[in-house]
Amino acid sequence: MSDNSSYVHFIEIWSIVMIYGTIALLIIGLVLAIVHNIKISSIKDFKQKYEYINKNEINRYKSIYILLGIAVAFFSNTYDNETVMLSYVWFFVRFFIAMCVGTLVGYVSILIVKYYYPGKMQKKLDKWRYMPRINPKTGNKMKLLSEEEEDVHLDEGMQAEENVFSVDYDVWIDEQTNDVKIEKYEGYMKALVCGSCGFQTLKIKNEEIIEPATEDNEGELLKHYECAYCKSVRTTAHIISRLANNDNEEYIRNKVMAGKVNTIAGVKVQIISADGNIETFDFQKVDQAENFLREYK
Ligand SMILES: [Zn+2]
Repeated sequence: MSDNSSYVHFIEIWSIVMIYGTIALLIIGLVLAIVHNIKISSIKDFKQKYEYINKNEINRYKSIYILLGIAVAFFSNTYDNETVMLSYVWFFVRFFIAMCVGTLVGYVSILIVKYYYPGKMQKKLDKWRYMPRINPKTGNKMKLLSEEEEDVHLDEGMQAEENVFSVDYDVWIDEQTNDVKIEKYEGYMKALVCGSCGFQTLKIKNEEIIEPATEDNEGELLKHYECAYCKSVRTTAHIISRLANNDNEEYIRNKVMAGKVNTIAGVKVQIISADGNIETFDFQKVDQAENFLREYK
């Protein structure tokens, strides 16, 4: 009987530890959320606010939800002590279920942050990106120039970056003094920084298979890059992994030939007319979309 009383005592202590643990985890999560928001409001510059949210918010939310998942696991370990005190087997059953419930809560929350939250965060980012800037010298509200108006204020390299969609510049102007503020944002497409001119305009021009991969040997692929601004070129060599079997050979070669296209599942083109009418077109391949736009009048 004394065995059982020490087990009962252990369960009592265990429950207290789990309850305090739950409270501590929830407090830490709350503090992380508060500190994050204080940090955002302490940043005065809108562009820096944008950068901070863009860089940190999703990771911060993920940590908070991991803490929440662990808190749920802790709290589940206090469920139905009366039954657990009957036999230590129930202790392990409850422990295992608590781990599962905690993992599930944490995992589902992180999935929500990963897939649902970016859309919501985009609205937050847009708010700071398009919030009228104030000219620090005059205190005047500045105006955001349209894509056509802004080119005068961008040098050729910057325009080249915008033309390959790797960088998006926002140009704000104080209409009374003509003071200009230029802000740099990440564009829709990836391009590398050119070693010659320093602009983010180095793009893949074509890929060349030097040595096709076989079942026995790795192949070699050259990627040819060209800078859209200064036209300097660069070539890098890559290994093509061995083929799994012959059936796959053509498929893999096509994938390699298609280059970066193989990571694209679809292309959506939205055309917005002057009266605000929006038409959406879906394509499976990039070149279909390109051809479509060439034909579109
Ligand atoms: Zn260049």
